[in-house]
Amino acid sequence: MLGLVRISRSRSHPATVLKSRDYMPVKALASPVENASEIARPASTKVGFVSLGCPKNLVDSEVMMGMLAQAGATLVSGAEDADVIVVNTCSFIASAQQESVNTILEMARHKTEGRARKLVVAGCLVERFRNEIQQNIPEVDAVVGTGELEGIVAAAGVAPAPSSNSPFTILQSRPEGDARASQGRFSRQSWDGAIADLPNYLYDEATPRVLATPRHTAYIKIAEGCDHPCTFCIIPQLRGKFRSRRFESVIAEAERLSFAGVREITLIGQDTTCYGEDLGLKDGLALLLEKLAAMERLRWIRFLYAYPNKITGRLLETIAAHDKICSYIDVPLQHASPSVLKRMKRGAGGDIFLRSIEKMRRMIPGVTLRTSFVVGFPGETEKEFEELCQFVRDSEFDWMGTFGYSDQDGAGAFSLQNKLSEREIESRRKQVMQIQRKISKRKKKALVGQEFDLVLEGVSEESDLLLEGRTAMHAPEIDGKVFVNDVPPGLEPKTGEFYRCQVTAAHDYDLVARIV
Ligand code: SF4
Repeated sequence: MLGLVRISRSRSHPATVLKSRDYMPVKALASPVENASEIARPASTKVGFVSLGCPKNLVDSEVMMGMLAQAGATLVSGAEDADVIVVNTCSFIASAQQESVNTILEMARHKTEGRARKLVVAGCLVERFRNEIQQNIPEVDAVVGTGELEGIVAAAGVAPAPSSNSPFTILQSRPEGDARASQGRFSRQSWDGAIADLPNYLYDEATPRVLATPRHTAYIKIAEGCDHPCTFCIIPQLRGKFRSRRFESVIAEAERLSFAGVREITLIGQDTTCYGEDLGLKDGLALLLEKLAAMERLRWIRFLYAYPNKITGRLLETIAAHDKICSYIDVPLQHASPSVLKRMKRGAGGDIFLRSIEKMRRMIPGVTLRTSFVVGFPGETEKEFEELCQFVRDSEFDWMGTFGYSDQDGAGAFSLQNKLSEREIESRRKQVMQIQRKISKRKKKALVGQEFDLVLEGVSEESDLLLEGRTAMHAPEIDGKVFVNDVPPGLEPKTGEFYRCQVTAAHDYDLVARIV
């Protein structure tokens, strides 16, 4: 049994095919590896990937696919065709852990009933439940933690393990990280089987990488790990101390991606606003954005995620000054009640946040703001919850996500008293989302008649009769959709191309538009 996660073999798993979104398609390559299908050798090992969780995990999957392709493996997009299946897992909250276990079991059937010879589990679940995975799921042949990505080629049986002198491992850290380490922030002692060394890996521009996103868009991970003390979160234990990629490394990767046809770059990290602090850079993110904005081939640049008190005036000025930098800020606030935020070890409160939102809207006219909250934190009273609800009404974010508090062994909040029931947490989560739904509906309606640039993403998943796209207000895979139902006569719209569009209708979260 993995903590709260059930390993239920009686569950009837769907046959073999995963949704195409979940299964890693091999669409474009941006790395020393030129093209996976071209370098595939006859009778080479066929490897299939399932990537779960966030974009940061997706980049890890892309890096592992790059290493495998460079070592001679052929990447396949159907689990039934794979000799080796890799499941890159998420362990953020209980539901993500459960989804990871269910997917591992689903893929295990390809070993017992199909052609697969090996099953490898990678990612955050390995950092959290290393021993339990190996002991309780015998179909799993190898595990690869978030700091051991170079181990994937050996784990998949494609090539011997690389030398332990990995050129990709970096060692710098911030004083905050060292201080938090001495306070026990990164301790994994309560986790059976967790290896002593914290993950310290971070890829660079020389690392092979196979992109799994559509050709026109790509993520670049600019930092890994987190030094913040948030008491509900185990990401620092799963991903290690905060460390930044070298400035030149990020620029070199962005340049190569742009020459490979990528038009939109999303910079990612647990906290991109801390970028460069460990390298001695002041306003590192702003400097990076400025440099990227000067790249001719790029059309949109954005970053995820901002830590509230790290959003500087310089960063806001930089966003406002460059058309290519999307006027879009995702700032997870987690709560608005000062007492809850204090227990979360995040500080501040709704009033401070409102002032900072007002500043963002003043300095970047038309800025799109996104946030996320954790509801049902231990001891959250009715009054504290109402403070959050009122803040949601007052702040009027464009996009918002809400997670129910999930108890995690190893997180500071695990030992707190007065835990709320799952039912109460879910009820509060729904109440907050209900408030936001009305705000979103009103804000989307106000966009009707306005014109925006839109990147076309192809035929809609909802209907073959509709196209789908995104504006600068929509981060990839995160926000609502724009359905395109009308194009000018004679125009043959192409996926990955940018078009001017006019919004013609609005739903709660989605928009309908026509290309003008
Ligand atoms: S800033 Fe985000 S990733 Fe870091 S500890 Fe807090 S919630 Fe977790």
